[in-house]
Amino acid sequence: MSRPAYSGQIFIVSAPSGVGKTTMIRAILDRCPELRFSVSCTTRSPRPGEADGKDYHFLTQREFLDGISAGRFLEWAEVHGNFYGTDGNQVEEWIAQGRDVLLDIDVQGARQVRCTYPCAHTIFIVPPSMEVLEQRLNMRGTESPRQIGERSAAARREMLQAPWYDYLIVNDVLADAVADLHAILRACRCRRDVRMGRLKPFFMSRLPS
Ligand code: 5GP
Repeated sequence: MSRPAYSGQIFIVSAPSGVGKTTMIRAILDRCPELRFSVSCTTRSPRPGEADGKDYHFLTQREFLDGISAGRFLEWAEVHGNFYGTDGNQVEEWIAQGRDVLLDIDVQGARQVRCTYPCAHTIFIVPPSMEVLEQRLNMRGTESPRQIGERSAAARREMLQAPWYDYLIVNDVLADAVADLHAILRACRCRRDVRMGRLKPFFMSRLPS
């Protein structure tokens, strides 16, 4: 396949646990089927309903550590006691094909990706309030009370990273939050540098010889 004259863009979405990021990402992928979602690797056990290769690539600790040694990950981090990482080759291949890529990663990973891809767009999703976030974590029913306590403490720490991100979305009404995310993607695709890359063949053909 020939290489297009433009690269795809990277969109990083982070949020404290329980904000509803996974639901928002599913909705945006339904709305934008051309967007590629990077399925992360993790050492965490699958939750009920999660499928290997779709929600995550579930690895053993040994496999993950071997992946780190082999330079497999664009970024990796330890989050809530488990390892998570993004497959670097897959992301590189998609952006070289001109496809936009969505990464669902934490703040540590977002900072690492920015070092490799400084133009990556970073989006942080916040709850309407910390009280609402705690209610959502309790209602989810996928974690033990101890894990809920840990995630809620981590959420407060993660919230402090919000000012580092390019965009902040408040997930109060889900449909509005998804519409905001979609608007960000669309606006980023309309940026002059991106559009000019796509229009390069047109302008090149008009240069005096
Ligand atoms: P969960 O276990 O709830 O699916 O995810 C926990 C946290 O790990 C979330 O904040 C999620 O964004 C983050 N995460 C998921 N995949 C990756 C990844 O590949 N790299 C990093 N750094 N964080 C990830």
